[in-house]
Amino acid sequence: MASTTHRCVCGAELRFRQDLKKEDSGVYPTWKCKDCLMPVPGKIGERLKHQHPS
Ligand SMILES: [Zn+2]
Repeated sequence: MASTTHRCVCGAELRFRQDLKKEDSGVYPTWKCKDCLMPVPGKIGERLKHQHPS
């Protein structure tokens, strides 16, 4: 399975669950960059949360 990466506006490359900050607000959780707290698109966040460094 190909891994998903997301280049944040702050320049950080988000690749793993620990690169995200989860915000439980509303019905769906919001995923944010752990460095700058910019929201990550929902589908990207849902994919990244399953990715862990092996
Ligand atoms: Zn960022």
